[in-house]
Amino acid sequence: MRKLFINIKTLVVGTNNRLAPLRGHDLGQLTLISNAWLYCENGLIHSYGSDNTFKTINADATIDCNGQFIFPAFIDSHTHIVFAATREGEFVDRIHGLSYEEIASRGGGILNSAKRLQKCTENQLFDDAYERALQQIRQGTGALEIKSGYGLTVVDEMKMLRVIARLKEALPIPIKSTFLGAHAFPVEFNQNHEGYIQCILNEMLPNIAAEKLADYIDVFCDKGFFSPLETSRILDTGAKLGLKPKIHGNELGITGGVQVAVEHKAISVDHLEEVGEEEIALLAKSSTIATVLPGTSFFLGIPYAPARRLVDAGAALAIASDFNPGSSPNGRMSFLVSLACIKMKLTPEEAINATTFNAACALELQHETGAIYPGNKANFILSKPISSLAVIPYRFGEDMIESVYINGNRFDA
Ligand SMILES: [Zn+2]
Repeated sequence: MRKLFINIKTLVVGTNNRLAPLRGHDLGQLTLISNAWLYCENGLIHSYGSDNTFKTINADATIDCNGQFIFPAFIDSHTHIVFAATREGEFVDRIHGLSYEEIASRGGGILNSAKRLQKCTENQLFDDAYERALQQIRQGTGALEIKSGYGLTVVDEMKMLRVIARLKEALPIPIKSTFLGAHAFPVEFNQNHEGYIQCILNEMLPNIAAEKLADYIDVFCDKGFFSPLETSRILDTGAKLGLKPKIHGNELGITGGVQVAVEHKAISVDHLEEVGEEEIALLAKSSTIATVLPGTSFFLGIPYAPARRLVDAGAALAIASDFNPGSSPNGRMSFLVSLACIKMKLTPEEAINATTFNAACALELQHETGAIYPGNKANFILSKPISSLAVIPYRFGEDMIESVYINGNRFDA
């Protein structure tokens, strides 16, 4: 199918860089084309240009985008959308003054999600996660990462990863799967952390690798969860089985998450609400992408990661949703762009690059998506008629999206 989009008020190309995440000044640079056209063939971006230079193109369908913008689809590089139940009870507990850690210590939080997930069938989990993913695509997300980590037993972690494998088959967007068995210590291992680590190393990881169920490995390296040493051992075994790390670090304290991520050449270290100058300097020198999750800070009322300082220091920054039932029950990326601008003082251009191209780099997908580039998947957002790029974050909480195209097709599911 050959599709031509004409009269695009502004085509947000993104970046022409296809290799490495954008840093520093480059993060604020977006290539924009006014009065543009875009031509897609067989689900891929073929070419684009300005004014009437498309006249020789013979398309099967022509779409008039009068006054509208086209943006690359968002990439959500950090989600936990396979879960059994929402946790609005804990939300109310927090309103009454309990902290996230207090809720966790009472058997709430991740352990609550695990208890419920263990009772859930694979089909139930799939159906619910599939609906969440569809909703995310409708809101403009064109690629996703999904983690396990609410199973916390061999059987249930495998169950989650099989659900993610089915989502990869069923959905029209690229999906990466991350094994997060080290998300929390199950209650029965409360006094025996070593026992659970042995279970991850000797039972979960070999089985997952044998069935090729994960692309990445993750550990919640933080205060009250896994120590840097425990994290290191799990990542070492993962590396031997071909799993690259993407880790949770520095959400609850400065406890060495960034250091262990950089040392293990993690693709990304995610959260970073609690970092100091040392961590920022380390990330600036490393290839590890600093992924910040402003939806979690908004929802939990915890500090925002210092995204502005990370960018100014030269770190590669991505923004993701952390969509999960406990600390960020929402995957709307356009709201995160607003939060990034309002709370983190990023410019709209920086926030868009951090939710598209840099986020694609955090999933090693920069060669197929994350920008409007010939040969990339034709995954993009057609906005409502807007006057400028800044309207997207300015009209916070409102979808300025008219339609989403995935592989060149208008997404109607
Ligand atoms: Zn997370």
